[in-house]
Amino acid sequence: MNDAAAALRTIPFGRPMLDAAEREAALRVLSGTTLVHGPESAAFESEFAARVGAAHAVSASSCTAALHLALFAAGIGPGDRVAVPAMTHVATAHAVEFCGAEPVFVDVEPDTGNMDPAALDAVGGRLAAIMPVHYLGLPCDMDRIGAVAARHGAIVVEDCALALDGTWDGRKAGTLGLAGCFSFYPIKHMTTLEGGVLTTDDAAFGEAVRRRKAFGYDRSHAERTKPGIYDVTMLGYNYRMNEVAAAVGRTQLAKLDGFQAARAANFARLAAALAGEDAITVMPATKGKARSSHYCLNAVLPRDGSIDRDLVVSSLKSAGVGTSVHYPSAVPLFTYYRDKYGYRPGQWPVAEWLAAQTISLPVGPHLQPGDAEYIGSAVGRALAATRG
Ligand SMILES: *Cc1c(COP(=O)(O)O)cnc(C)c1O
Repeated sequence: MNDAAAALRTIPFGRPMLDAAEREAALRVLSGTTLVHGPESAAFESEFAARVGAAHAVSASSCTAALHLALFAAGIGPGDRVAVPAMTHVATAHAVEFCGAEPVFVDVEPDTGNMDPAALDAVGGRLAAIMPVHYLGLPCDMDRIGAVAARHGAIVVEDCALALDGTWDGRKAGTLGLAGCFSFYPIKHMTTLEGGVLTTDDAAFGEAVRRRKAFGYDRSHAERTKPGIYDVTMLGYNYRMNEVAAAVGRTQLAKLDGFQAARAANFARLAAALAGEDAITVMPATKGKARSSHYCLNAVLPRDGSIDRDLVVSSLKSAGVGTSVHYPSAVPLFTYYRDKYGYRPGQWPVAEWLAAQTISLPVGPHLQPGDAEYIGSAVGRALAATRG
């Protein structure tokens, strides 16, 4: 491989798409005195709810906070068991732990990385909640997961951190359970620096979440007739989104159509460029009723370990192509969970394979013309190099 020629491009895995519009939005807030619970977060919530087609949206300080709030507001607590896929961001499982409940890790499908409905169906004992995670943006089989949830009387909380605008049967992720939780971390589909939001069609549940993200106050600032006077009727956190974040988020929402079109086009170009690479499997952008949000393109290496992922990643790096891994371990095999619950390798074979043998390739709106083709040929050269 010719590194000198390859170094002609530098393509990070992800990059926040910010320009003068975000800077102006931030300065608009910083020029005033309302920095929290003001008009920007209220407007952001209604604009985001409209985007997803949900009746209500509650902004939060992160997706992790939103996931925690969803379970907490639903009364999930000690003694409850909550199904979580073994392959996800650790935040999904941590939200269960925050509530003192027990995560029940379910293995995932080899073709999509989504919670395997058959494995979920086989879980014994009662589940109080199920947390489908739309892996890299492709929605889970919500018909089958919904049927299992109904059998248990369990609530469904979707982790939509990478699934903004992904659809199941024409309906958007975030409207397919009691609640959906989204992330606005810098390299997600859009950013508020840090931030998250919870969507729901249930007005009472949305209100329960709203109270618990702000100390459990009985009334918001806007609802107070006497300034500074309130009662506290429940336990609550401080998980609010600030006004700068909300103003940046509104600007990003206005650009989101363009971001999403670029992702879809980049995904299609990169998938086409990789079509001849028999050594890898590209995770699909559609399956049955599911349509992906194209967070990234996941290249899956053979299960027999015949290709060394580290070697592929390092030759991509020297070609200037940034990659990521989703995620570096099956969650139950992270030290915290292993030590707490005594889990052993081999219990979640598909999740463990994906943790070891997939590479996430960039398709974000930061790609320049020709980048997708460049990444495709860099992958071809990297694979050829591992064959010696
Ligand atoms: C990024 C991510 C989270 C955490 O989001 P934060 O906003 O950083 O808290 C949770 N779940 C998944 C699937 C993610 O990708």
